[in-house]
Amino acid sequence: MRVGLSALILETNSFSPQKSDLRYFKENGFLLAGDEIVSYHHHVRNEVAGFIDTCATLGVEVYPVCAAWAVPHGPLTRITYRKIKHTILTGFIEELPRLDAFYLALHGSMVVEGLDDPEGDLMAAVRRVIGTKPLVVSLDFHGNITKAMVRHPDIIIGYNSYPHNNMYETGEKSARLLSQYWDQIPQLCRLYVKLPMVTPLERMTIDDNPPMRRLIERCDEIEKETGIVSANVFGVQPWIDVPELGSSIVLVAHRDHLEKAQAYCAKLAQDFWKARHYLQAVVQYSPEEAVKQALASGIAPVLLNEPADNVGSGATGDSVSLLRVLADVEPSVPTILTVCDPKAVDRCHRSKVGQSVELVVGGQYNPWETPMRISGVLRSLSDGVYRFRGPVQTGVTTSMGRAAVLEFKPGMYLQITELPPYTIDPEHYRCMGLMPERMKLVGIKSQGSYKASYNSIPHMMLFVDSPGLSRSDTTKVPYTKLDTSHLYPFNLKVRFRARPIMFMKNSEVNHE
Ligand SMILES: [Zn+2]
Repeated sequence: MRVGLSALILETNSFSPQKSDLRYFKENGFLLAGDEIVSYHHHVRNEVAGFIDTCATLGVEVYPVCAAWAVPHGPLTRITYRKIKHTILTGFIEELPRLDAFYLALHGSMVVEGLDDPEGDLMAAVRRVIGTKPLVVSLDFHGNITKAMVRHPDIIIGYNSYPHNNMYETGEKSARLLSQYWDQIPQLCRLYVKLPMVTPLERMTIDDNPPMRRLIERCDEIEKETGIVSANVFGVQPWIDVPELGSSIVLVAHRDHLEKAQAYCAKLAQDFWKARHYLQAVVQYSPEEAVKQALASGIAPVLLNEPADNVGSGATGDSVSLLRVLADVEPSVPTILTVCDPKAVDRCHRSKVGQSVELVVGGQYNPWETPMRISGVLRSLSDGVYRFRGPVQTGVTTSMGRAAVLEFKPGMYLQITELPPYTIDPEHYRCMGLMPERMKLVGIKSQGSYKASYNSIPHMMLFVDSPGLSRSDTTKVPYTKLDTSHLYPFNLKVRFRARPIMFMKNSEVNHE
């Protein structure tokens, strides 16, 4: 067997003014073609690497076409999407007679300028090219699964993890299922339920939230049953402004076991729905209250976490609400914080290390934040390139753009970055000599993914209510395309009974 492979993985935030283009992929993540995809992934643990390695073990040849990934950001420009789509389709078309199956690694919550469902569009285009040959797709747990995304592939896999510490295993599973089922593809069907809920992510992390843990454990059990290929939970990331937004359940099953699969799919959806009030109950503190509680606690470090400015959800990472409070803290405590501000970074890079500088930082992109003045001693400068060493995106090289560290009070450091700082892995601090484990206060911006790395450091965490593009209260998100009248939590009286929609042989069979 010979399998065509492509990846286009970008989580976007519709409300961000920072557009993602080819240059962004190249500078911040990767944009690879052909054999360089294989060589790059020798030292990386993501789904692409898992797929390639497993295919090698199974004796399946991989034909790599295109692979692109970057830290979550604003919408992809139309021209960038067209170019990447064209590369993928052309690559598949040229080798079509010599390819037996196809694998696409995608996110599921990517938005392109003027296109609400690019992943659905890409899957449809690939399907038109490959005809009835098998297509396996893997998606992020936070993917917004649309009907088009369920209609076109034969097998769909999600991470079923949050934090996403099993990216590599998801690629492995994709390869294994493709190999196992590729001669039964015409007999497989997909079952899909879209839930009328758009809830925050803070209480969706799997290990420490019982309703989520039970859902994923149930998926694992269901997947062991005869005739069930995959069972997946998708807790949507709420900051994409598209009409078809909501969490979903997707099952892939053999048609001989359809009745059982439908019952499982409906039950998983119903159980997810029952968890909605639990998911909604996020506790946050004002910056003043969070700092007060952190200073009063005997624990170090305390993670002061601003989820509304979460770069992992495509937010702009330029809130300074916490910095404003910390700038007044007396006496100083060992602290690290990070903020995106290209102009302030440029000013630092035109100064000398050890020099006193006065800067205006923050609020450059975030419509609800205002810049603030801060002065201090410039302690270090960096090109901002580092490698993820934690369990998520392990081995991938990324860049926060040029960066600088300002000591704004004795022992209190502000990292300033050109690109929004991705705080799920403390390497962005460590690469500039800032060690979270030696601090009293550590500023991060992450709903749940930070746990993958930070849980290895004993800590206390407080959610801080700052302004930003990934706020937890979804009723305050300025959607323009989403009809919220029938969605929880916008309408608390909404009723729901799960009725799985079945797709078979690239078509919708019984849409209710
Ligand atoms: Zn995700």
